[in-house]
Amino acid sequence: MLFPSVRLVAAVCAVAPCFALAGCHADDNKAPSLYQEFSGPRAFDHVAKVVALGPRPSGSPELEQERRYIEAQLHGSGWQVERQAFTDPTPHGPIQFVNLIAHFGGSKEARALVCTHYDTKFFEPQRFVGANDGGSGTGALIELARVLALDPSFARRFELVFFDGEEAIREFRVDSPPFDGLYGSRHYAASLVAGGKAPLLKLGVLWDMMGDRDLDITMPPNSPPKLAQGIFAAASALGTRDHFGYFRGDILDDHTKLNAVGVPTIDLIDFDFPAWHTPADTLDKVSAASLETVGRATLYHLGRVVPTL
Ligand SMILES: [Zn+2]
Repeated sequence: MLFPSVRLVAAVCAVAPCFALAGCHADDNKAPSLYQEFSGPRAFDHVAKVVALGPRPSGSPELEQERRYIEAQLHGSGWQVERQAFTDPTPHGPIQFVNLIAHFGGSKEARALVCTHYDTKFFEPQRFVGANDGGSGTGALIELARVLALDPSFARRFELVFFDGEEAIREFRVDSPPFDGLYGSRHYAASLVAGGKAPLLKLGVLWDMMGDRDLDITMPPNSPPKLAQGIFAAASALGTRDHFGYFRGDILDDHTKLNAVGVPTIDLIDFDFPAWHTPADTLDKVSAASLETVGRATLYHLGRVVPTL
């Protein structure tokens, strides 16, 4: 991730029983209960696998290895993965970035976006493996793909995106060229606009640094209100409400590029993370329980709203 600005700013829906409907099968309408299938231990195992690759900055061979791992996992659960490659100037010269964009069975029906970044910050000569910052969202999104695939008609309503180049090579500069940071989401957002797709995506959820063992999700205060209320309601229903709150200031992260093109996107991030951008962001800081808490609250809410989009 990201950069906080120094400026400080100050229901469970009942699901209609399906047994009374003629022609309704037991498998129909799984979406509202699908959250129960999201496994923290499975997500954690994916985090461990990508962390084992070592530092994974944009343009590195290790990031290519991570791409192949993500693609193999998603293909295994029925997703098609497009590589959105582009080259941008950076403080280290031109770098080729690659976003991974997944659709279930090649669906063109996506109405909801779930995304994360999968690169880690360039920190040589320090060894920075980004277990939470880069790793956690990646592992959780791979697990989400597996769970969504259990309900193919629901899965077809999603676009899953793994952003490259969220991290600044040197220091965040996102409002005017020469840019540094948010490379992948800036390119993806522009492609949504160019392709006329932005209006089709009705909501987005960004996961970043959501695996902290000491979980304290700190959403930006300017989060889209309906999404924030939905996540809070989901967490209340699941008994995890104490882990979700607001940050004290703005947060600069990939969601800003999506909101700027009209896709209301919430950033589920734990920015109360002492190991942020230090070599201490290692696997022991991440827990399966935290990944599961955020994964399930997200899916609980999406299971209620996405079928209606
Ligand atoms: Zn970061």
